[in-house]
Amino acid sequence: MKINKVLEIKKGSAKVLEMPVAKPAAGFVRVRQTIAPNCIEHRVFKTGFIEWHETHTSLGHEGVGVVEAVGPGETRYKVGDRVVIFQGWACGDCWVCENGLGATHCINIKGPQEIEEANSSESGGAGFCEYRLVPNNMLSKIPEGLSDKYASAANCLIGCTYTPVREHHITQEHVCVVGGVGFIGLATIVNLKYRGAKVIAIGRDTKRMARAAELGADVIINSEDEDWLEQIQAHTIDNRGADFSFECSGYPYYQQKCLDSLRHYGTMIQLGYAADQGTDLKWDLNTEYGVCWPKKTITASFDVDFRHRREILETLCDPWMQEKVDKLVTHTFPMSKAAEAFEMLNDRNGVEEFVGKVHLIPGE
Ligand SMILES: [Zn+2]
Ligand SMILES: [Zn+2]
Repeated sequence: MKINKVLEIKKGSAKVLEMPVAKPAAGFVRVRQTIAPNCIEHRVFKTGFIEWHETHTSLGHEGVGVVEAVGPGETRYKVGDRVVIFQGWACGDCWVCENGLGATHCINIKGPQEIEEANSSESGGAGFCEYRLVPNNMLSKIPEGLSDKYASAANCLIGCTYTPVREHHITQEHVCVVGGVGFIGLATIVNLKYRGAKVIAIGRDTKRMARAAELGADVIINSEDEDWLEQIQAHTIDNRGADFSFECSGYPYYQQKCLDSLRHYGTMIQLGYAADQGTDLKWDLNTEYGVCWPKKTITASFDVDFRHRREILETLCDPWMQEKVDKLVTHTFPMSKAAEAFEMLNDRNGVEEFVGKVHLIPGE
């Protein structure tokens, strides 16, 4: 068995372990990952609470790399293919998968432990490792000439925010509010500007709001201003409110603001994922006056759809988009120094510069 470098994250500790990784079973490939982007895993370092994943050695879900072994009978991928890896293990067979929708929303979605079990492996089911076992329907070939760094943005950056903007057919006629601006909010702003929408960003962190302006947000509003709603409405026709709002924090503070900022018949899209970290986080929503009378729609999106995978990789070849990714991905750490990365992410205010998306390098 091959030895795999795997990151184990517990409360206040992140260390690289050496664990065996098996040969890929039929329907799987093994990828030597070159970049393992961090998404929400610094929270595990902070609280010890694991969401979705089940063990401390199967964390991380994004990744890019090179196929270095394939399962028996594999025809879609060969050794040497450069690939971007999408999270989880979708069945490929249910209504969601058949329609090319979001793998994360697959009715039979499986996680890292099930990937490891299917390969009789002790490691490699999740993102924070050097050698990763991947179901052959959960990756895409990277176009020639597209670097690993830009391809990695097809995960939870330009990718997962691409689908909701694309599927609502957003154009330059729309006014869109983005509330709660972390790297998901910033990437949403980029996708909205890519399609020409007018973007109003609402938040209170000065470094993030400055980056939102750099990325093309047309209006920046401080969410602590008493008249934040009037300020938003003043940028819409007849002060009627925004056509769409994108909630990017997962916290009630921004959820309510995103709903309130909409015009009648407007649509709020929930992208943020607070995952409540073991607490009982709930939005106290008044459905009658908040949703029914103004006939607003609330929907959600977590992932890039199957049907958009080729499109998003093509979009990432655009130099305009790459310039934006350079402003979104701000730090790179060897995986062996992941603790430093997580400390920085958990204490952004203590860091002078803007902290956006952070990449870990698995082999280092
Ligand atoms: Zn499915
Ligand atoms: Zn992610």
